[in-house]
Amino acid sequence: MSKFRKCTIAGNWKMNKAVNEAEDLASSVKREMGECSDVEIVLCPPFTALKVVGDAISESRLKLGAQNMHSEPDGAYTGEISANMLRDLFCHYVILGHSERRTYFHETDDVVNRKAKAALKANLLPIVCVGETLTERDAGCAESVVRTQLQGSLDGLGDVLDKVLVAYEPVWAIGTGRTATPETAQAMHKYIRSVLGGIGGSKADSVRILYGGSMKPDNAAALISQPDIDGGLVGGAALEARQFCEIVRAALSC
Ligand code: PEP
Repeated sequence: MSKFRKCTIAGNWKMNKAVNEAEDLASSVKREMGECSDVEIVLCPPFTALKVVGDAISESRLKLGAQNMHSEPDGAYTGEISANMLRDLFCHYVILGHSERRTYFHETDDVVNRKAKAALKANLLPIVCVGETLTERDAGCAESVVRTQLQGSLDGLGDVLDKVLVAYEPVWAIGTGRTATPETAQAMHKYIRSVLGGIGGSKADSVRILYGGSMKPDNAAALISQPDIDGGLVGGAALEARQFCEIVRAALSC
């Protein structure tokens, strides 16, 4: 662990795990990794399991995160959940602008920006996701796509940029088993940090930039040992305690 930024491994459980399954998974991770302080471990279950997972990981170093929230503090927004409601359940983190939300729920950079501001106001740390599609990469515009997403999603947040995490998740690597090579990922992470420098100056050096996209126990160390990769946002491999904990162990070895 030579980087000054704290390595962070966040598990995005997506729309998986009934309440009892979520409790089991969280308890298993706590049993193996509950005292781990060198890596920040974040569990992001679905809303329905936040309470039970929060209870299961209490009195441990594991942190709780949500997968989405609304930008308004309260009001007539049927079906939505606010930042303060997440804080009520002891969430520390919230994933925002995941590519699945951008694709299936038409979330724009402007929406993500409003959510990020609301999250920070409620003392939640936003994990803002960006990433290009395969078509965009093949067309040579991966960097410009990611730059636009960052500038739009983080507009006006320069002064508090050190409270924001970014997850680079190339859409072509999510749930496909196809991972970006460590070199490709590092090149984009370095680019992301330079764009963050334009937004928040020297605060960019403190921003944790996570890689997401088919991170597994056997590729995690090579990715996380890159200088600008500060951990992972893990989907499929976070659904099983053994695999998730192996990724944390890989992070500990970097
Ligand atoms: C994700 O959806 O955030 C993700 C990285 O998924 P997977 O690890 O399954 O590719």
